[in-house]
Amino acid sequence: MQTRETNWSGNYVYEALELLRPRSLAELAEIVVDAEQVRALGSRHSFTDLADSPGTLVSLGDLPQDVEIDGEAGVVRVSAGVTYAHLSTELYRAGWALGGMASLPHITVAGAVATGTHGSGDRVGSLASAVRAVETLGADGRPRTIGRGESGFDGQVVSLGALGVVTHLTLDVEPTFQVRQDVHLALGWDDLVEKFDAIMGSAYSVSVFTDWVRSERNQVWVKSRVQPDGGTFVDPLGALDLSGLSPAVAMTHMLRGAPEEALTAQLGEPGPWHERLPHFRMEFTPSRGAELQSEYFVPRRHAAAAVAALHEAGPGFADQLQVGEIRTIAGDQLWLSGAYGEDTVAFHFTWLLDPPAVYAVLPVIEAALRPFGGRPHWGKCFTVEAPELREVYPRLVDFATLRDDLDPDRKFGNGFLERYLV
Ligand SMILES: Cc1cc2nc3c(=O)[nH]c(=O)nc-3n(C[C@H](O)[C@H](O)[C@H](O)COP(=O)(O)OP(=O)(O)OC[C@H]3O[C@@H](n4cnc5c(N)ncnc54)[C@H](O)[C@@H]3O)c2cc1C
Repeated sequence: MQTRETNWSGNYVYEALELLRPRSLAELAEIVVDAEQVRALGSRHSFTDLADSPGTLVSLGDLPQDVEIDGEAGVVRVSAGVTYAHLSTELYRAGWALGGMASLPHITVAGAVATGTHGSGDRVGSLASAVRAVETLGADGRPRTIGRGESGFDGQVVSLGALGVVTHLTLDVEPTFQVRQDVHLALGWDDLVEKFDAIMGSAYSVSVFTDWVRSERNQVWVKSRVQPDGGTFVDPLGALDLSGLSPAVAMTHMLRGAPEEALTAQLGEPGPWHERLPHFRMEFTPSRGAELQSEYFVPRRHAAAAVAALHEAGPGFADQLQVGEIRTIAGDQLWLSGAYGEDTVAFHFTWLLDPPAVYAVLPVIEAALRPFGGRPHWGKCFTVEAPELREVYPRLVDFATLRDDLDPDRKFGNGFLERYLV
């Protein structure tokens, strides 16, 4: 018997035989010890069989939701199943902040970290790069902790759920800050390619939305850190002399026809970091809901050439696309991070919810980004196969060895890992 539970977008039905919800860490440890095969499930926002288990799935949503702030050390220790919505609200109340957020706050901390989830910003690292320590239950049900700087740490953060059930994460925090969000419309292709670094570097967090075909639909979302007392704000794009660009005068969704009430405030209204850095508000469905997603990471030094290549390839995939997004990420040293090794640009695609049609066009994008070593996002749809993954994720082989050490019997294994960790 399968659970018949599905992921968030409903395109994947988990094959696991059961979904358990322990209420204590002792109960969780017992489940891990007793199960032949088990994996942790987060908020189910991944689009493939990545989170699935042939045996037991375990949700940490009913465990105590610890959020322990240590201001002196500049960290927060948080239960793995806590969502960024809950974490960020608690941090904000206490006067603290995370450096970055994904586009939505609905996802769990452990699920996001396990897949290398990220937001945007030249100097903003992936959410995993904020991790200072990871606490994990291993196959024997015993806890182990590894901290930044210890041997093997860089392999254990973006873990794909393959190394055990993470129970807590310790994350870097900084004093709270305010952000304003301004949207600009109709960025031209020439400007995007020629002034890419200046545009993406113009503010703390910048995203470009595009359908890769019609420049009049291009949008630049600019999230600027501002002083609480206001002060004079200078439009960071104004200095760049971008022809035809105009500021939006109403709330603007990146998806045509989607409800603006689901978005965090725009039009320059300053607000707390956690109510501006994500595009979507917790109380509403993020994005469209009926969709698939893909994303590919490319070294930042290839950004302009990769933008030009995708623009040229655009007509080959635009019919399946709801919207694309371009973001930047500061490089890190985490083995399976999309931003491993150097500063990175990420090309995201929100697709129609039509798996055969979408999987048919993914190779068009993968071919366009292959010359730049495009790495697929672990939580989204891709067709790149194991040999190429080993090339674009140069530490994947080391990660497979680490898994052999930590989970030789494959208690935390599944079909996804068997496909890609060969
Ligand atoms: C609308 C939408 C918007 C998105 N926006 C972004 C974005 O802005 N940036 C971005 O990079 N991605 C984005 N994503 C992708 C999303 O962030 C990732 O798929 C992320 O992994 C989802 O977290 P989750 O809690 O839903 O994890 P799940 O999908 O439930 O699980 C993902 C992986 O984490 C593992 N895992 C979960 N909990 C644990 C645990 N306690 N211990 C060990 N392993 C665990 C699972 O086993 C699985 O391998 C978006 C997805 C959606 C649907």
